[in-house]
Amino acid sequence: MIRRGTNAPAFDADEILDGIRSWVMVESPTNHPEGVNRVMDMAEAVMAALGARTTREPGGEGYGDVLLARLAGQADGPGIMVLGHLDTVHGVGTLATDLPWRRDGDRVFGPGIYDMKGGLYTATYAIRQVIRAGALPHLPVTFMFIPNEEVGSPTTRARIEAEASRHRYVLVPEPAKAGRLVTGRFAFARFRLHARGRPAHAGATLAHGRSAIREMAQQIPRIEAMGDPERGITLSVGVVQGGTFVNVVPMHCYAEVLAVMPTQAAFDETCARVLALQSISPDVTLTVEPGPVRPLFEPNDGTLALYDQAESIAREIGFVPGHGSYGGGSDGNFTGALGIPTLDGLGLCGDGAHTHDEHILYSSLVPRARLLAGLFQTLGSEHEP
Ligand SMILES: [Zn+2]
Repeated sequence: MIRRGTNAPAFDADEILDGIRSWVMVESPTNHPEGVNRVMDMAEAVMAALGARTTREPGGEGYGDVLLARLAGQADGPGIMVLGHLDTVHGVGTLATDLPWRRDGDRVFGPGIYDMKGGLYTATYAIRQVIRAGALPHLPVTFMFIPNEEVGSPTTRARIEAEASRHRYVLVPEPAKAGRLVTGRFAFARFRLHARGRPAHAGATLAHGRSAIREMAQQIPRIEAMGDPERGITLSVGVVQGGTFVNVVPMHCYAEVLAVMPTQAAFDETCARVLALQSISPDVTLTVEPGPVRPLFEPNDGTLALYDQAESIAREIGFVPGHGSYGGGSDGNFTGALGIPTLDGLGLCGDGAHTHDEHILYSSLVPRARLLAGLFQTLGSEHEP
């Protein structure tokens, strides 16, 4: 039972970090649904303890579950959606080897701590402290926990869009960008490439074979050269799989491409170029399959007004976050592209997302929690500027 008082919400950095640690210590790479669901269980318990109505549904296609948790506000009607993911890019075993939980001064390291278990836990803590202080959020608040953001939210996009459409605001506690909030995100496209060659004995009959790996190796620099980093267009081949035995000319090679584009024109042009790729060797077949897309999220007036409100709350706390459009994608792309006021990058400060240097800054825990709490307390109320 939550004890309601009449004080201002209280924030304790060590208490927030303890909660984050409990989520980070359960490894939850996207392709490990048991781990993702164990963290979903923890998030569900946190939300249920606040009196939220929770529902779980299967993510589908072997992914972990989607968790929704709904809290009442002082007013009815469309409210605030908090959107985040509990999957990470770090495989099981990372905690025991390359990225153990550790604190070094202001920096606290761990798999997924920055992207984005830290920010999402902090958002649950912020609403908890608001409720404990007896100050219900002004509008109803829905938390949506996603199990497969790191692979492009293939089975969850439609559900995110449908849920967001019933809300007035979307808050995304993804990592802050050098402290800044995110009011726009570039468009993302993923592609799957298959090269099919001709097998042969790599010792006895090498000349009869056509190597699918050789074909893919030649395609990679061609694909990455389609990028124009000065215009914000980048292409990267991040996955390659091929071959069976070293004495067999490889018949199959598979690769995945991530393309990032800052404008719709660049998106259309780049996608058309990738989809038109042809094999270099005439005896090898190359097929290109489009994967999940994150649409361009451009700042609209509603999003910029949401930023202004966040900035005025942050100024009272003692900082000015700033904002901008960035190349990293998130589920905020979906809601921002629909025109729903979306403020992203509300998570913690830190660095090293998707690397073994991933960390948050301890000093950002309380300011970010207070900013989120301020948004929950004021959005939709007459105190809104
Ligand atoms: Zn993320």
